[in-house]
Formats: sequence, structure tokens, C-alpha cells
Amino acid sequence: MDHQALEAGSAALAEIIDELARVHGVRKCMGCECFLAVVQAIDKELAPIQLPQASGFRADLRAWLEQGQTRPHGCLGCAVCLPVEPYNQFVTRFSRSATRTDAADGPTCATGRD
Ligand SMILES: [Zn+2]
Ligand SMILES: [Zn+2]
Repeated sequence: MDHQALEAGSAALAEIIDELARVHGVRKCMGCECFLAVVQAIDKELAPIQLPQASGFRADLRAWLEQGQTRPHGCLGCAVCLPVEPYNQFVTRFSRSATRTDAADGPTCATGRD
């Protein structure tokens, strides 16, 4: 990864972690299966990434997963759970070779039930 890509990557990463923190802050979404699926997918994607912030972010992701998994539940049909857009950006930037994970096409809260 060259310097520019690294900077763009850091920005994208900060953005999605922000987005996830916002979802995690919504009480009913904390244990939502779609949120947990995204968190898990990103944690996995982050594992091989050499960015200074990556390990700190992974600690956050782990904490959210742990908290969410104490009370997991199906999607409540809310609009905020699955930040598909930033997640897709993340996947595009960080794992160009990887195929889209299930989370991108999986259950979403924005299915019109909210
Ligand atoms: Zn939700
Ligand atoms: Zn949900």
C-alpha cells in the first residue's frame, strides 16, 4: 500500500468506525443481527491490515461484539443498523480482491419496516 492509499484507507476506516459507533449507540440496535454481522465482517477484514489505527479499532469492534452478543436479536427493521454504504467502501478499498461478503447483501434494517 503506498502512502496515498494508506491515507485514504485511514480516512475510510475512521469513517466506518464512526458510523458503527453511531449504530452501537442506538440501544435497540446494539444486539441487532445485521449490526453484529457487519462488525464481525469488518473485524475479519481488519485483521491483516497494517494501519496504525487498526488495532485500536479492532478493540472497539470486539467490545461491541461482546456487548451485542449478550443480547442478540433479529433485525427490528430499523433504518440505522447496517451502514451498507461505508461498509462497501471499506471493502472496495481494503480488499479489492475479496468478493463481497454476505453482510453487504445480507439482512438490512432498511427494508421498510420502520
Ligand atoms: Zn437496528
Ligand atoms: Zn438491524
